[in-house]
Amino acid sequence: MENKYIQETEQAVLHTYNKAPIVLEWGDGAYVYDTDGKQYLDFAAGIAVSSLGHGCQELNEAVKEQIDKLYHTSNLYYNETCGKAASGLAKAAGMDKVFFCNSGTEAIEGCLKTARKYAYTKGTGRWQFIAMKNSFHGRSMGALSVTGREPYRIPFEPLVPGVSFAEFNNLESVRQLITAETCAVILEPLQGEGGIHAAAPEFLQGLRKLCDEHDILLIFDEIQCGMGRTGSMFLWQQYGVKPDIMAMAKAIGSGLPVGAFAVTGRVASESLTPGDHGTTYGGNPLVCAAVSKTLEIFEKEDLTAHVKEVGAYLTAGLDAVADEFDCVLERRGMGMIQGLALSIAPGEVITKAMKEGLLVISAGNNVLRMVPPLIITREQVDEMLVKLKKALS
Ligand SMILES: *Cc1c(COP(=O)(O)O)cnc(C)c1O
Repeated sequence: MENKYIQETEQAVLHTYNKAPIVLEWGDGAYVYDTDGKQYLDFAAGIAVSSLGHGCQELNEAVKEQIDKLYHTSNLYYNETCGKAASGLAKAAGMDKVFFCNSGTEAIEGCLKTARKYAYTKGTGRWQFIAMKNSFHGRSMGALSVTGREPYRIPFEPLVPGVSFAEFNNLESVRQLITAETCAVILEPLQGEGGIHAAAPEFLQGLRKLCDEHDILLIFDEIQCGMGRTGSMFLWQQYGVKPDIMAMAKAIGSGLPVGAFAVTGRVASESLTPGDHGTTYGGNPLVCAAVSKTLEIFEKEDLTAHVKEVGAYLTAGLDAVADEFDCVLERRGMGMIQGLALSIAPGEVITKAMKEGLLVISAGNNVLRMVPPLIITREQVDEMLVKLKKALS
């Protein structure tokens, strides 16, 4: 498997990822191809990013057109493409104002700062956060501080003080952690990296009520579960529980590097003001062209309806796999974010699947994760199931 591209990369790149021994070269729809011409059905989508699939011509044309016009201005000036992306994303998110940045991690930093600034403006000076065990919010010092998985955190301590961790889906454990200094609760409505765990509706409803009673802000991290993946544009819309602040990234630019956070009008009017926050590249015309076009395609093709339909088919197919194979303990997830909890090491299944021409990834300690492009067809679900069964045998 050793080839010159792999050797060159290993020599030059800091070893922070254990890469799969394949060299990917190009993609088309739900498929990617390596340098030997081998085809892979892509149920990883660059970790829930490439929702429109690879080589989406309409998206590529929009990006190319913008490259020739203007691709960086900084946030000191207005730009038509950026304005359009902001209003489109705010509308899709059901929120009032957005701030564009460059990644999910950076979106989380913005969420935390906004919550602190809200407390500062209100004169409460509250500064503590309640986060969830088993959560994932990113790798910067702030995002890591609210990430509830110790192996990620411990080597980098001390982190931001004032963060406590509650049990996900246990309202009482959140209640017990509330202090007079609690400024916000942050969670993923569906934990992705932690192993595909969806929130119970009562948990989110209870959290909303609890936060309102104590004037605590509710922050949702929809970086992985948002942008159509579960069958609604954002997951809060399915639960009917609206956050005050929401982080987005991964799929919003269909693969161009863009993150964002959104807030309600109430939070906007009492938090960040000029000088409080910024980012040089954030929401540049190039990535905003991708955001706008992505939103346009979602609407035109009614992608959320497609996710509901094909996602139900995928769910049924994976439920059958869970019934058939003893090594599959449980299927979890919704729409096109699915996990199979295994009694065997996911790594072995991932390697075997790759040989069969299927890309899947892991989550948590023992979960096989599937986050395909949202455009996959029933036929591609069938194809995946055949390959997956071989990999599990
Ligand atoms: C991926 C992810 C992040 C971090 O996003 P980056 O773009 O990698 O910085 C944060 N939260 C969740 C839920 C994620 O899935």
